[in-house]
Amino acid sequence: MNLQTDLFIDGQWRPGSDGRRFDVVDPADSTVIAGFAVATEADCMAAVDAAAAAQEGWAATAPRRRSELLRAAYDVLTEEVEHFAELMVRENGKSWSDAMGEAGYAKEFFRWFAEEAVRVPGDYRLSPAGDKRIVVDRQPIGVSLMITPWNFPAAMATRKLAPALAAGCTTILKPARETPLTAAYVVDVLHRVGVPRGVVNLVTPMPTGPLVKAMLDRPEVRKLSFTGSTEVGRELLHACADRVVSASMELGGNAPLIVLPGADLDVTVEGALLAKMRNGGSACTAANRFYVHSSLHDEFVARMDTALGKVAVGPGLDRANDLGALVSVHERDKVASLVDGAVADGATVVRGGTSSAEGAFYDATLLTDVVHGSAITTTEIFGPVTAVVRFDDVDDAVRMANDTIYGLMAYVFGEEREAMAVARRLEAGMVAVNRGVVSDPAAPFGGVKQSGLGREGSSEGILEFLEEKYIALTA
Ligand code: NAD
Repeated sequence: MNLQTDLFIDGQWRPGSDGRRFDVVDPADSTVIAGFAVATEADCMAAVDAAAAAQEGWAATAPRRRSELLRAAYDVLTEEVEHFAELMVRENGKSWSDAMGEAGYAKEFFRWFAEEAVRVPGDYRLSPAGDKRIVVDRQPIGVSLMITPWNFPAAMATRKLAPALAAGCTTILKPARETPLTAAYVVDVLHRVGVPRGVVNLVTPMPTGPLVKAMLDRPEVRKLSFTGSTEVGRELLHACADRVVSASMELGGNAPLIVLPGADLDVTVEGALLAKMRNGGSACTAANRFYVHSSLHDEFVARMDTALGKVAVGPGLDRANDLGALVSVHERDKVASLVDGAVADGATVVRGGTSSAEGAFYDATLLTDVVHGSAITTTEIFGPVTAVVRFDDVDDAVRMANDTIYGLMAYVFGEEREAMAVARRLEAGMVAVNRGVVSDPAAPFGGVKQSGLGREGSSEGILEFLEEKYIALTA
């Protein structure tokens, strides 16, 4: 594979200033794929300097030009889609079909925001008294720091880079240490199509917390866009408070999936499989808790059991496998301990509950008799485990669904009017009705409660990187 393994600062690939490297590991067989450069404090400061120096010129670049560069990046990613997917399989462990799915989704943000770059709205109106003019202009917020997780190493980067660049902001991308290669490839594509020096920078600082804080302490940095866990998000919000930095937060989820008495089980099982098994369950939107009405419970469980029995587990580079590895053995052990805890709390293992393959693999698992409130219903599982809780009363299902600090995603299956009524009562930024996947660059993605602040994608996504300026005129 042709890999970029250095930092990208001020238009150049370069090693870290002290020469250190960290291992990037293929979780399917624990082999080291690459040694990636560690960014020191000096490297992080150089990235901020480069982004700050490029900010004025990039903001002044014609929106049409910014749009063309984003569109060119989309075209390159389309031509090289198999390489793009392979990088994700190698460093993240996901299956080939999940990687191709993510590649398609990730590149779409460049096309979508290429279209949005030339459509930023403003306003010009008469004051109510009729004696003044109110002009509302939207300007790029400035240097933007973006921090991304390992579970969607491409899409979480493009979902931030594309709107920021479209808006006229310069950027510093900090990918997760597990998955820097995909991020470096995306940055390289932007470089190859002609994005000017300093506009996109990539650093992998260690130790992460103090060096991210040092970048946030620089007055030139005006925006933090973070995707990751709620715990780290909270910490970063505190850091942003010190200099009143604008923060967008895409945090953890704990999605309920409710099966109402009127649900069509063909549609429900197909949707439930997608909602649970996409990306091997390592998705903030993954269905985490299944609340199934008693009248359909046994049939739903039997059909899920049959469907999960057909899931082939193994390395993602073998395209016949449906379920790849988790990102690390550590992550697999977390999933295993949640399943063991659920069983200790009274759950029954219908299928799985084991790791039949060597390495970071965990089998597709189905649990019933899960107790609402046990750890498996309050923690993001981030693995291929379907945890089923039975209910009799729809009000109880809604109460249990909302009984969480999270509010990212929820799924409802049922007769459409009834499902819509339940959807309106759920505390979530996104609700899927009779569907298993909702992610779409044209739709606003984000959560309520402790799942986040702000929205990505759609026309809202670019607004996160723009600030309104009111210019007062005489009539
Ligand atoms: P994480 O919070 O551990 O790490 C996310 C990123 O933050 C990584 O780049 C990591 O290196 C960095 N980080 C860790 N500690 C930091 C610190 N003290 N200061 C600054 N940066 C720090 O999350 P993860 O394990 O990589 O990813 C999984 C989490 O991401 C899950 O909770 C998942 O729900 C969430 N997620 C949310 C969305 C969403 O859109 N809401 C999407 C994908 C993943």
